[in-house]
Amino acid sequence: MTPHEVLAVIIAGAAAWWLWNLWVHPFRPCPRCAGKGVNRGSNKRWHGTCRRCRGSKHVQRLGSRQLHKAILAGRGAQRARAKKNR
Ligand SMILES: [Zn+2]
Repeated sequence: MTPHEVLAVIIAGAAAWWLWNLWVHPFRPCPRCAGKGVNRGSNKRWHGTCRRCRGSKHVQRLGSRQLHKAILAGRGAQRARAKKNR
């Protein structure tokens, strides 16, 4: 293997790992409120819901929606094909 091939394998592996992580963990703790679900400066008297995650404490990771759509669409197409062949 040439150094270029090694680099390509490493990049492909990292991409696969990243996609797998995105599939298994589509949500990550909200960076704006650090997973607390409330605005910075909230206290007992004044409780503000985080605008970014709207209090859910998690945000969807970039690209995870597209990934899920693509995978589910691919599965649907496979199923449709299998039905046709039967
Ligand atoms: Zn938040």
